[in-house]
Amino acid sequence: MPRIPQHIIDQLIADTDIVDIISEYVSLTKAGSNYKARCPFHQEKTASFMVSPDKQIFHCFGCGAGGNVVSFLMKHDQSEFIDVIKKLANRLNIKLEFDEKKSTEDDTFELLYKVNAYAHWYFRTQGQQSQKVKTYIQNRGLNPETTALYDLGYAPDGFENLVPFFKTKKIPLSLASQLGLVKKGNRDNLYDFFRDRLMFPIHNVHGKIVGFGGRALQSDQEAKYLNSAESPIYHKNKELYGLYQAKKDIAQKKQAVVVEGYIDVLAAHQLGISNTVAPLGTSLTLDQVKKLKRFAPEIILMFDGDMAGVNAAQKAITTCFSAGIHPKLVILPNNLDPGDYLTNPQPSQSLTKAVAEAIFAMDWLLSTRIKKVTHETGSRAQIIREIAGWLGQIPDAIDQMEYKKKFCQYFDVTPNDIEKFVDITYESDSGVRPDEKAPPLEALLILCYLDDSALFPEGGLVALAKNFEDSRLRDLALHVESFLKNHETFEPAQAILDLPEALATILSKILLFLDDKSGSLDTAGCINKFQAMQKKKRLKEITSQILEAEVTKDTERKIALLKEKQDLLANRQ
Ligand SMILES: [Zn+2]
Repeated sequence: MPRIPQHIIDQLIADTDIVDIISEYVSLTKAGSNYKARCPFHQEKTASFMVSPDKQIFHCFGCGAGGNVVSFLMKHDQSEFIDVIKKLANRLNIKLEFDEKKSTEDDTFELLYKVNAYAHWYFRTQGQQSQKVKTYIQNRGLNPETTALYDLGYAPDGFENLVPFFKTKKIPLSLASQLGLVKKGNRDNLYDFFRDRLMFPIHNVHGKIVGFGGRALQSDQEAKYLNSAESPIYHKNKELYGLYQAKKDIAQKKQAVVVEGYIDVLAAHQLGISNTVAPLGTSLTLDQVKKLKRFAPEIILMFDGDMAGVNAAQKAITTCFSAGIHPKLVILPNNLDPGDYLTNPQPSQSLTKAVAEAIFAMDWLLSTRIKKVTHETGSRAQIIREIAGWLGQIPDAIDQMEYKKKFCQYFDVTPNDIEKFVDITYESDSGVRPDEKAPPLEALLILCYLDDSALFPEGGLVALAKNFEDSRLRDLALHVESFLKNHETFEPAQAILDLPEALATILSKILLFLDDKSGSLDTAGCINKFQAMQKKKRLKEITSQILEAEVTKDTERKIALLKEKQDLLANRQ
């Protein structure tokens, strides 16, 4: 990936008017100092999508999308950062200069892609000539369109097929070795890594081949699947099999289906579920979920019904939760996998129907646990504790509240009981929730600081923020403070560039809130209120610590705590 110097990026953003760009996509109407529109990222009847010409940012108070002009184009066009920058440069007729020192690295990348492309050409040609491959594909019920779309090939049996091919094409074997296509033997000789295997090329999102998966065609071969080694162009934790072929449909259907393996992807696609991808021989990673999230808001996990499948599903649910997604789930019946839906006899229910009837992961977790309790196959206390843990991970506050209600009904417990097991975040007054119009006190403090940092006590925002309860606002405060250290003024559109997406949307939200209330920020009031809350919190802590000191007969500690309490109380009056 070529690197564009930061000052060029800053200049591009400064020279582009976000209002011009966004009005190419949605019709904006003036609302005070800002513009309003119906949000292009979610269905709505009344406009809650705001654009600020002063701050050069946008935010939707309906779905929470927000950021600067680059974030808008990345989200709207499903483009990579670099492509958006190129687009902006084109509009402004600016010629992009790339960092020279990076160019040798780019050359290496290009060479590695080329070597993979040659290998793929070789595998494909071999595949077309192999009766073994034809028979296997036929037996699996895969049709020629599907195998052509995924460009399958064949690595012939024997240790020296690809190596001599590379030699005749004058391809440096050192590169092939870097890609894991060839391996070094005992006598320093190089031999083929993939032998007698059906080859699945792995494309990156742009369609370049970054690696291969090879499936054994004989039952006595050592590993059923072999995968390319990690290389400068292939990171198995970041790529997704089938994403290149599925990305359009994923964006269109606003939904991605995740299955377990290569053949599952092909089978699902052939059966009409064209928005399907799979991780690459590992469990679904956070990077992979984040990548999918850029294309679609909904993820459906489709797993086999065996023990391994259920375990994989639970792992994947946790990963989706951490990425801010509540996934849906399909557990296929009778240990079937998607490939079984292609061969005879076919299961009575179609795969598309199974996908359409996918349920939210939390409903599945609840119902399976309830079964355990009613059949007394698990300890009630243990199960309640387990579910409480899951409940706490549900990313959306309202969603979480709904499931907590359900949980309380099923298990006949009170919300207070759950609180013992899990933080009830939705009752806390900190944190930016998508449903709230007014930012909480901690967010207001960040706004106040941007408004006039001189009004803050010594230590500035960071001194207060270290006591923030909402970790995202704590992080945001640190970013804001360090941005101000390195820049003379606070340019929101630039500050957003360095922020992770989750923080960028919070920043755009609270900044646009400020526009509505301009002039009405009560900095001193906010600081006082926050400090009073801190004091109250500390007093509560001290009270229980004093009790503790009494129980443990730690007189020295008790005296120190009493003194602290007196000081705090004296200070308050
Ligand atoms: Zn929206």
